[in-house]
Formats: sequence, C-alpha cells, structure tokens
Amino acid sequence: MKLKKKLFFIVLFIFRLNSLVLGIDEAELSKLRKAMVETQIKAEGIKDERVLQAMLKVKRHLFVPEEYKNTAYINGPLPIGEGQTISQPYIVALMTELLELKGNEKVLEIGTGSGYQAAILGELAKEVYTIEILDILGRRAEKLLNELKYKNIKVKIGDGYLGWLEYAPFDAIIVTAAPEEIPKALIEQLAEGGKMVIPVEDQFPIDRYSQKLKLVRKINGKPVVKDIIAVRFVPMIKGLEKK
Ligand code: SAH
Repeated sequence: MKLKKKLFFIVLFIFRLNSLVLGIDEAELSKLRKAMVETQIKAEGIKDERVLQAMLKVKRHLFVPEEYKNTAYINGPLPIGEGQTISQPYIVALMTELLELKGNEKVLEIGTGSGYQAAILGELAKEVYTIEILDILGRRAEKLLNELKYKNIKVKIGDGYLGWLEYAPFDAIIVTAAPEEIPKALIEQLAEGGKMVIPVEDQFPIDRYSQKLKLVRKINGKPVVKDIIAVRFVPMIKGLEKK
C-alpha cells in the first residue's frame, strides 16, 4: 500500500475511534436529522416548507439527555427525566403544521418539557410563551433556549390549566400533555380566529393513554373542535387549584 493511502486509512481509523468514544459527531448528527425530516416527516405527509426547514434547523440532540444523544433522531418519543418525554418528531411537526404559522403570531405552549417544541415554534412565530409545571424541567429548558439565543421565547414555571393571562390573547395555543377536557382558560385566552392543538383523554378510554389530538378554532367566540388522530401524551398534571 502506498504511504498516502496508508495515512488516509490511519486518519480514518482515528476519526472512527474518536466517534466511538465520544459518540456521533455534529456532521453525522446533521445527516441523521436530514434523514429524519425526509423519512419520518416529509414522507408521512407534512408539507409546510417552513415547518420542514425548522425541523431541519433545530438540533433535537441538544434537547435530550446526553445518553440519548445518539438516538435523538429515531422515530419515537424519548425520556427527558421526571417521568416526562420529548414527543416523537412527526407529532411535533404535525401539531406545528396544524397551527399554520406565518411568522407574525403570538403562541402559547403548555408543557415546555425539554424546550424542543418551543424552539421549533420560536423559528416560526413572532413570540412564544411556554409554561412548565415541573421546576427542574422548566429551568433546564429556559437555560438551553437562552444559550441558543431564542430571544422571542419566554418560559414560566406554572400551571398550564390557567394559561398566561398577562400575554393573552394568543393566535395559537399548543398543548403537549393531555388533559381530561379542554381547559376553559385556554379557550378564553385564544384569539378570535385562533387555533389550538391539544391532545384530550378519550371519554371512553381503551387504556391510560387513549387520547385524541384535537384542532380547536375559535369562531364567533366559540370553540369549533375537529378530531385529527389518536395520540399518546403524558397526562397533564393537575395544578393545586384543580386538586
Ligand atoms: N413539549 C415538550 C414535551 C412535553 S412532555 C418538548 O418539546 O420536550 C409534557 C410536559 O408537560 C412535561 O414536561 C410535563 O411536566 C408538563 N406538564 C404536565 N402538566 C402540566 C401542567 N398542568 N402545566 C404545565 N406543564 C405541564
């Protein structure tokens, strides 16, 4: 073997070893992210070009615990601690697409979790307000979103059942934990003509996670509700005032 070729293989070997020890590198993660958008999102029918671009841009691997970094782009939810999960990428894309964001909206998210969905919204709307009930998750997400320079996202530790009156009304609301019914405060805080996506426990559940993703539009002050698909979200935690 020529020396040049030998050197090439040695360098290649060192790179491989490096990625085995340190995990997958950024370039490889970026390839996996591209594949995720192609096979899990585009191929499954998500068409909104802005949503696809945001899913390509936001580094999902930064929002999962270190031990899941290498699996951040698989087709499924992942644990983020405290018994909570980051949603499956397709569900994030679907819920975001349903909101039909154009760029000028004020959006409310309930269930900050890892902050990933908030980052996607931050790419697509003017202002994002996100509420997390678990202090440890909310603080961690807030820190990461600050590091990533999302100046248009505000995180609050609080009870999502109550919404965020101070900044209401919202053009869009996205709820990423499942309540038993659509919280009244959220309907009130939705702007006229606004859209809300929310998973709601089935009235006659088959199991603990039997839920329907609903699209709610506020028309003449009243919610008009449409069922989209069956989903599985973590249940929405009842805040103090609901217990
Ligand atoms: N959107 C998140 C995933 C959310 S998992 C992401 O992109 O990672 C659901 C989150 O909702 C959990 O973090 C959970 O703690 C939070 N949650 C549950 N009940 C809540 C409530 N009443 N108010 C606000 N957040 C709540």
